[in-house]
Amino acid sequence: MLPIIDGHNDTLLAATSDRAGGEFLAESGDGHLDLARAEDAGLAAGIFAMFVPNEGDLDYDELPPAVDHERARRVVDEQFATLHDWADATDRFRVVGGIDDLDACLDGEAVGAVPHIEGAAAVSPDLINLKSLYENGLRSLGLVWSRPNAFAHGAPFKHGATPDIGPGLTEAGFDLVEACEELGIVVDLAHLNAAGFWDVDATIDAPLVVSHAGAHAISPSSRNLTDDELDAIADSGGIVGCTFGTPTSVRTASAGPTRRCRRCWITSSTSPTGWASSTSASGRTSTARRSPRQSATYGGSGTCSRGSKRGGSTGPRGKPSRTETGAAYWLHGGTNPASGRNF
Ligand SMILES: [Zn+2]
Repeated sequence: MLPIIDGHNDTLLAATSDRAGGEFLAESGDGHLDLARAEDAGLAAGIFAMFVPNEGDLDYDELPPAVDHERARRVVDEQFATLHDWADATDRFRVVGGIDDLDACLDGEAVGAVPHIEGAAAVSPDLINLKSLYENGLRSLGLVWSRPNAFAHGAPFKHGATPDIGPGLTEAGFDLVEACEELGIVVDLAHLNAAGFWDVDATIDAPLVVSHAGAHAISPSSRNLTDDELDAIADSGGIVGCTFGTPTSVRTASAGPTRRCRRCWITSSTSPTGWASSTSASGRTSTARRSPRQSATYGGSGTCSRGSKRGGSTGPRGKPSRTETGAAYWLHGGTNPASGRNF
């Protein structure tokens, strides 16, 4: 069986909130993921997201309000504890702390969880607790969910809209990206707006990772990745997880009613086959890195708040273009905004 590494799941959110799908160690027909079904499906590992739930109703065309830092820390602490409890309870599940753990999971020894925080609100703006989060297992950090924080701003889920919306990283955001690279924490660009994306691109040398997103050329949501961004990810040797979440996969807001699978929220207008073609589009050979700020399509409302830290966010990364490397796609079972769940 081909081992699968899932780029993003919200299992910890489900387990620690009052929403359905809270069981993981016990087989269940609810939710997206439990250990028994993960084993049956050949899941080697997944990026297990820790996420602070939104409060109140959301307008998905706008950025939701920021969450309180202290609340975010409490929620992340609880979700971290839940993850470690699961790993302590069985040898069939482990927290991935390094390559050896991941290799063991790919060899079938256990299902692995790469601890991830989606939206860095739980990180202190002075980064004082980042090292302790790493020591607790954090290996992947999404700078934002689609709401602002001390580090970046995020992109709304607006259809028929460009991701080139809002400013890029803050000073603390640049510091956080550098600190993550130094510690060995993956910087996840999911949910960033265009300015934030290019600021990260200009700051780190590591491959660019977007754990869950769609292709803007197929589904023009401000949440999705433009061809320029996909080219940059491919050139860096990076990776994109493809989300099947309805809000990021419908082609346009005026495309008419879509039939929706009750279990997986894949719409009839965007089948897995359709997404496979997007893989080809994103993985195409590119001869040079391009910046949206140099293109006619993107006028550049966002500006790099720190400027050219490493040769400028509009310039090349200063290393050979790895044109043989296409951006690969992980599978990601999307979740449903109608239920208020994260995606
Ligand atoms: Zn998400």
